[in-house]
Amino acid sequence: MRKMNFSAGPSVMPVEVLEELQKNLVDYHGKGLSMIEASHRGGVFEEMYDECLADFRSILSIPDDYDVYFLGGGATLQFTMIPMNFLLKGSHADYLKTGSWANKAADDAEKIGNVNILFDGKDSNYTTLPDPKSVKPSEGSSYLYLCSNETIGGIEWQDFPTTGDVPLIADMSSDFLSRPVDVSKFAMIYGGVQKNLGPAGAVFVIMRHDLLDKRNPDLTAYMDYAKHAKNKGLYNTPPVFSIWAVSLVLKWIKANGGAEGMLKNAIEKSGYIYDVIDNSDFYRSPVDKSCRSRMNVVFRCPTEELEAKFVEESKKEGMIGLKGHRSVGGLRASLYNALPMEDAASLAAFMKEFERKNG
Ligand SMILES: *Cc1c(COP(=O)(O)O)cnc(C)c1O
Repeated sequence: MRKMNFSAGPSVMPVEVLEELQKNLVDYHGKGLSMIEASHRGGVFEEMYDECLADFRSILSIPDDYDVYFLGGGATLQFTMIPMNFLLKGSHADYLKTGSWANKAADDAEKIGNVNILFDGKDSNYTTLPDPKSVKPSEGSSYLYLCSNETIGGIEWQDFPTTGDVPLIADMSSDFLSRPVDVSKFAMIYGGVQKNLGPAGAVFVIMRHDLLDKRNPDLTAYMDYAKHAKNKGLYNTPPVFSIWAVSLVLKWIKANGGAEGMLKNAIEKSGYIYDVIDNSDFYRSPVDKSCRSRMNVVFRCPTEELEAKFVEESKKEGMIGLKGHRSVGGLRASLYNALPMEDAASLAAFMKEFERKNG
């Protein structure tokens, strides 16, 4: 029996994709070798990779003047690569400190250059976001950086700022392809794939090509986005297994209604959980209603003892990953694309029953 997996990442994958990986692991579609044994310069890989990139582009209608590729190093390496490339001496970049992940990115950027903190959610304990219309880049900014969904705090931008000539850069690790996104608003979107797109190992990068004109040209090879763009991500060996799995997840998303279909499911799944919270005096959401995440629902019980009990008892029902991040405590249900609708419904039913017994 497969568990109901509410983990924040690595996280649940579509079972059809896991089966497809298993079926083709030893002999990839009769080619006589595994995808993970094939050269990344050879036909077997490149055929899969080209199709993967084409599906990736088609799901979000990514315009032609954007490069798309995968890198290693996790989303965390991007916290460094972005300022190394684009935060030039004598200039500064705007950051929105909205929680754990944006804050880490800002901290890394500060080691590299001048950072202007446009917003800091510290006073609300990172439970709210600014109104996108109120966010204006500062004069002469190299770029404006935000995180679209704070995986740990459970807050998600419902709409994005408009930044004019200042490039907008977004970490979308934990809500990418859970909804349609107008890519043309952004100069760069990136994210680790292990939340919503596949197994750990790869980071996707979507970057408007002309952003490269403004980069620092004196970087070592791997740190230089231009090297990766020119070689469509094959400057060095890419994370082959992870990309293969992502390619199958993309086909699964296409077959299940694309980004619109994912959004519809995300609204329904998170609705189950938020409805229980909103109709209860037992559970509470620490997060401002206007920016509740559909991917990571963070909630509390009246006491920490009850939260520990909730985790223990949910495990007995086959539900895993419901403990909140150690930095914030509480409970968290991650409801990524691949989480079956029934699992969200089961969690909602469990929550009601737990309240009945303990409320
Ligand atoms: C998980 C996560 C990261 C870090 O990803 P790694 O691949 O572990 O480096 C960064 N940003 C967000 C929004 C995340 O959810």
